[in-house]
Amino acid sequence: MRFSGLRVLREGLTGNRGWQAHWRDASPKAAYDVVIIGGGGHGLSTAYYLAREHGITNVAVLEKGYLGGGNVGRNTTIVRANYFLPGNSEFYSHSLKLWEGLEQELNYNVMHSQRGQIVLFHSDGQRDAAIRRGNAMRNQGDDAELLSIGQLKKVLPYLDYDQGRFPIYGGLLQRRAGTARHDAVAWGYARGASERGVDLIQNCEVTGIDIEGGVVKGVQTSRGAIRAKKVAIIVAGRSSQVAAMAGMRLPIESHVLQAFVTEGLKPCIDHVVSFGMGHFYISQSDKGGLVFGGDLDMYASYAARGNLPLVEHVMEAGMTLMPMIGQAKVLRSWGGIMDMSPDGSPIIDRSPVEGLYLNCGWCYGGFKAVPGSGHCMAHLVATDRPHTAAERLRLDRFRTGRGLMDEEGTGAQHNLH
Ligand SMILES: Cc1cc2nc3c(=O)[nH]c(=O)nc-3n(C[C@H](O)[C@H](O)[C@H](O)COP(=O)(O)OP(=O)(O)OC[C@H]3O[C@@H](n4cnc5c(N)ncnc54)[C@H](O)[C@@H]3O)c2cc1C
Repeated sequence: MRFSGLRVLREGLTGNRGWQAHWRDASPKAAYDVVIIGGGGHGLSTAYYLAREHGITNVAVLEKGYLGGGNVGRNTTIVRANYFLPGNSEFYSHSLKLWEGLEQELNYNVMHSQRGQIVLFHSDGQRDAAIRRGNAMRNQGDDAELLSIGQLKKVLPYLDYDQGRFPIYGGLLQRRAGTARHDAVAWGYARGASERGVDLIQNCEVTGIDIEGGVVKGVQTSRGAIRAKKVAIIVAGRSSQVAAMAGMRLPIESHVLQAFVTEGLKPCIDHVVSFGMGHFYISQSDKGGLVFGGDLDMYASYAARGNLPLVEHVMEAGMTLMPMIGQAKVLRSWGGIMDMSPDGSPIIDRSPVEGLYLNCGWCYGGFKAVPGSGHCMAHLVATDRPHTAAERLRLDRFRTGRGLMDEEGTGAQHNLH
């Protein structure tokens, strides 16, 4: 089934009776070439690119809940490629390029909106750091513009420029950054994978990983055993638990990150705005809600809900930056479990077990990575070689200390920065 304006018109005039389910709700077979554990954004995009780029379609995605019920449907939808360090820089640049053709490729409206992201800076030192980051982004081939305070006042007139604590000096703008509708991204990839023959199996929890003589043989699930030649662990916040089923101890800690949305308002915030000093960022959804968030909840947890001190902290930061936000009513808040790596950068790699692959460490930035991660992961699983854009996302950097990418400069304990 292809989507088009004509199709919408025809369905509208004929009672919307021609739409079909977006994907087959498959039941598990006894064996697959590839089993993907986790039906989030990264698992689904990996399945899609395995089928599309490598012709590997005897694939199952096993999801313990429902597709898109994890972080892929819980994030604040920011898509950008403004990383500084080699490794991250080329990977996120690759991902943003895939975003730019995604709707046409999937024939699915993921509402990708390149409205621009502005990262504020508040001192001369931070301005220098922003200039360096902007130069690194441009060297990578991406866009970056430094905005003076005068330019900033024109595009973000609602900020409080008179506040004493964090005076605003300017901002770094990436025009190609923006937002996308998070669950549509999961649905679009699910549809594309299912159309190419991938089995998407919901309510199927992996409870064990079968390994014989150092080689993966399959998985145990709540719906029986499934044999597989290759198994990919792509479970974000649950990475440590699932990897432990294969006897691995990953350098990953799981932490809660919260998000908030207000009632629908008339358009007032055109960009994504990041206020790093205050741990606050915000954008406005197409429905009108102000979508915003802040920092981690500061303790390791598998509970997908947050605590009140962080709620207060985020609200204070919002009021500091843009007092007008005090007029809006918060409708909802929620939390997701983040797979925090010690250097804040991801892992796309083979594991010490033959045929078992790892994709994790996305921290709070894995939504923007969904296309790039799936593309590079599929390449790794299909060819056993890393994709050029993900060559530095190696697991052993945490053992050897070589190639660490401490993007945030916060070190291994994110709660102490
Ligand atoms: C509040 C919040 C805001 C965020 N904001 C942004 C943002 O603005 N921009 C950005 O780039 N990133 C953001 N992120 C991060 C981003 O959402 C995640 O990094 C990314 O979605 C993680 O990858 P995923 O989509 O594959 O994860 P998930 O959707 O969590 O997928 C993992 C899946 O694995 C399944 N699973 C786990 N264990 C098992 C098992 N044993 N058997 C079978 N299935 C299993 C889970 O049920 C889940 O569906 C945010 C996250 C949160 C929580």
